[in-house]
Amino acid sequence: MDPWFEITPFENDVVRLREPNVGPLDSCNIWLVNGSKASLLIDTGIGVAPLSPLIAKLATGRLICLLTHSHYDHIGGAHEFADRHIHATEAETLANPTPESTLWRGWLTRESFLASPSESFLFDQYEVRPAPAHGVLSDGERIDLGDRLLEVLHVPGHSPGLVAVLDRAAGALFTSDAIYDGPMFFDLPGSDRQSAKRSVARLAGLGAKVFHPGHFESFDAERFAELAGGI
Ligand SMILES: [Zn+2]
Ligand SMILES: [Zn+2]
Repeated sequence: MDPWFEITPFENDVVRLREPNVGPLDSCNIWLVNGSKASLLIDTGIGVAPLSPLIAKLATGRLICLLTHSHYDHIGGAHEFADRHIHATEAETLANPTPESTLWRGWLTRESFLASPSESFLFDQYEVRPAPAHGVLSDGERIDLGDRLLEVLHVPGHSPGLVAVLDRAAGALFTSDAIYDGPMFFDLPGSDRQSAKRSVARLAGLGAKVFHPGHFESFDAERFAELAGGI
């Protein structure tokens, strides 16, 4: 048991972490995909409690950290990890985050917290810490974890540099904020709904059977089709 993060194991050596004391739109699903040689951490939460000691215990190999995009709910803990990657179009925000560029201003408030992450936590001092990327991601890039190979897909729309991650052999797709089973946002600064539609159409053609999203619960291909129709 961790005092802040909820940890849920999934099939195929996938672990989900989230921050239940912050609402499901104010915090994200953090995914850890374990392979025989390396582990991929997809997103890092809002950054108010130490994440890396927990990930060190759960990871089976050398850790690679991928940020699906630069919104605060996904990159808050990125500074804790050494090997960080993000799409080139959002690398500047990761390196020099502001309350506006990471979108936390106006979204994350004191009222977002159902409990305090620590005794010393003061919301007035909340910030997203700079975490310059060590590598930039491009569409089609492969991430080799040893016994599993993941593919990076650039799926702009919700944000310009949004990426999804496909585990083709397992039929699993990590969609981040391209599509999830809850209120979706395609009218934020930097969003483009037409791109979002094209991106989701592309994701629909990959044959994935299980979808692990950036927020809310995982779903199957049937639910994907229903949700995609509403974008
Ligand atoms: Zn987002
Ligand atoms: Zn998000």
